Amino acid sequence: MSIRAAVIPTPDQPVEIRQFPEPGLEPGAALMRVEYSEVCGTDVHLLHGQLPGAPYPLIPGHINVGVLDAVNGPVADAFGDPVSPGDLVTFLDVHETCNNCWFCLVAKATTRCPHRRVYGITYGADEGLLGGWSEKVYLKPGVKIMRLPDGLSPELAIAGGCALPTAFHGVQRGQVGLGDHVVVQGSGPVGLMACALSRLSGAQQVIVIGAPQLRLDIARKLGADHVLSIEETTTQERLEAVRGLTGGRGADVTIEATGNPNAIPEGMQLTRDAGVYVVVGQYTDAGPVELNPHHDLNRKHLDVRATWGIDFSHMYKSLHTLARFRDALPWAEVISRFFALEEANEALVGVESGRVVKAVLCPNR
Ligand SMILES: [Zn+2]
Ligand SMILES: [Zn+2]
Repeated sequence: MSIRAAVIPTPDQPVEIRQFPEPGLEPGAALMRVEYSEVCGTDVHLLHGQLPGAPYPLIPGHINVGVLDAVNGPVADAFGDPVSPGDLVTFLDVHETCNNCWFCLVAKATTRCPHRRVYGITYGADEGLLGGWSEKVYLKPGVKIMRLPDGLSPELAIAGGCALPTAFHGVQRGQVGLGDHVVVQGSGPVGLMACALSRLSGAQQVIVIGAPQLRLDIARKLGADHVLSIEETTTQERLEAVRGLTGGRGADVTIEATGNPNAIPEGMQLTRDAGVYVVVGQYTDAGPVELNPHHDLNRKHLDVRATWGIDFSHMYKSLHTLARFRDALPWAEVISRFFALEEANEALVGVESGRVVKAVLCPNR
C-alpha cells in the first residue's frame, strides 16, 4: 500500500503529491498516522529555498500530531514508557542531537549541536517519510515521542503548534514575570503565542505590535491589553505610544517575532533602560540593519538575548501549559483553516500573504 505525501521538488516549484511505498520499520522505529501537520512560516522559507542546506525533494511538516500506526519491537516515549499503536502522540522534530559534542556537553546549548537534524526541514524525501505533510511519518529509533497531556485535544495541540514552544523559549529567555510590562513585536503565530504566554506569566501589561487587523484582534483575545498597527503608525508614533503606556520608560521585556530586521533597532528603543530584549523572529537571513550601539545598547544598559530553535523541554512544558490553561484563552482562534494534502500550495500562499494566521494540513482527510 502506498503513502501519499506533499513534496517540494525543488525551490520555487509548486508542491506536488507523490506516492511512497509503505516503509519497513527498523527495530525501535514507529510509523505515525498524521492527523494534523502545521504549515509554518518556515515552510514558506523552504518553498523559496531560503534555508541553506535544506535537501530537496523535501516533505515539509515539522510539527505533527497523530496516532501511532505500527511499531517494530518495544518503542518508548521520551521518558521510557512504552507506546503502542493507537496512542495519540506528538514528537520533537529535532533528532540526532548528539549529547557528545562541545556545544551539547560544555555550552549546554543543544540547539546549537552541529549534528541535530530536523523533521520536515533538514531531512529530505530521499531519506524517507521524514516530514508530516504525509499520510504517515516515519519515527526513527530514538525520536522523542510525547503523549498528549490529559485533556489536550489534537486540534488544540496543533493550534499551539510550532509557535507555542518557540514563543515559550522566548518568554522564558526574557524571564517575563508578574508585574512586567511586555511588548511583543509581530502578530504572526509566534507573536500571538508570546502574547498569550506573557499574559499567563502575570505580565502587568502586554502590548502587541503587528498587522493586519485580523491578527491584532486575535492578539486582544489572547491577552493583549493594547495593540498597535504597524500599517497605521510610524516608528516614532509606536515609540511614543509604548512610552506613554509605560510611565515614559518603555517595556521591561520586549520579544521580537517579526522576521523583519528593521524591527531590531526599534525593539531596542521600545525597551526601557536596563530592560531585556529577546530576538526570536530572525530565523532566516533577511539582511543587515543599522543601529546605534551607544544609544541603543551601551548607554541603555540593555540586555539582548536570542533563541535558536527549541529543545524537548520547550515542547513538553508548553504543551502541558496549554493543557492546564486550555480554557483560559481561546487558543484555537489562531487556526484560520484546515487544508487537505492536495491544497498545500493554497495553504502556503495563504501563510505567505498573511491572509491566514495559521494553516493546518490534514493529510488523511
Ligand atoms: Zn551535540
Ligand atoms: Zn515551524
